[in-house]
Amino acid sequence: MFGRRFIPKIAAFFPTGTMNNSISRSRNAWLLTGQYNKYASSAKSKRRSKDRLCWKCSAILKSAVEFFCPSCNIIQRPSKTATYFELLNSPKTFDINTTQLAEEYKRLQWKLHPDKFSDLSKNEKSLSEEQSSLVNEAYHTLLKPLKRGLYLLNLNGVPVTEDEATSTDVKFLNAIMEKYEQISSDEEKAKEVYIENTGDLKECLKNVSSAFEKGDMETARQEMVKLNYFSKIDEFIKERESWD
Ligand code: ZN
Repeated sequence: MFGRRFIPKIAAFFPTGTMNNSISRSRNAWLLTGQYNKYASSAKSKRRSKDRLCWKCSAILKSAVEFFCPSCNIIQRPSKTATYFELLNSPKTFDINTTQLAEEYKRLQWKLHPDKFSDLSKNEKSLSEEQSSLVNEAYHTLLKPLKRGLYLLNLNGVPVTEDEATSTDVKFLNAIMEKYEQISSDEEKAKEVYIENTGDLKECLKNVSSAFEKGDMETARQEMVKLNYFSKIDEFIKERESWD
């Protein structure tokens, strides 16, 4: 029952930028930390040449996502240029097959897991740790639509983090606030909000998908902002009641 549960302050469920108006500041900070460079295409072409040779036998690696040398079979350094989509052998689109993604993730983790390298050199062990954590990060970024969409925006030159994906639309924000109040008020209302929000989420996912398909990044960004709020409401309700 909702009444017995601890109810955190509503502000805790909003992306931070909504409440403290720090959108531009945090974006600048993010750019300054160099994270954007991770995705910038110029950096990609500059680094490409360094990624081609095996560190042990100098054999040429066929692609940026070669985890093992095709010649000596030794584990390679993590690629600095490959996107998370490339690492997990997935098409670079919003609508991906998450079952296939999970299979690829498991397949790679089985090959790269540090336990498999315990008898090998220190260098190989540490490379397996790096590769394994990179694949882990890639998987958890692409698995859920919210993170995947934000990552895809970044790849398309629209750098925006989860905390920055906030709305300034007062009417929209009031409606969201009202939903949180209803969820906290009673169980019946919470169920109504859940059903309504599930519809909103579905609709929003369709809009995000179509915007990415058309290459309309501005619409994709606007829809991702909404998705951020709807996803948080969804998580909030699911955390309180195991309905699924
Ligand atoms: Zn080699």
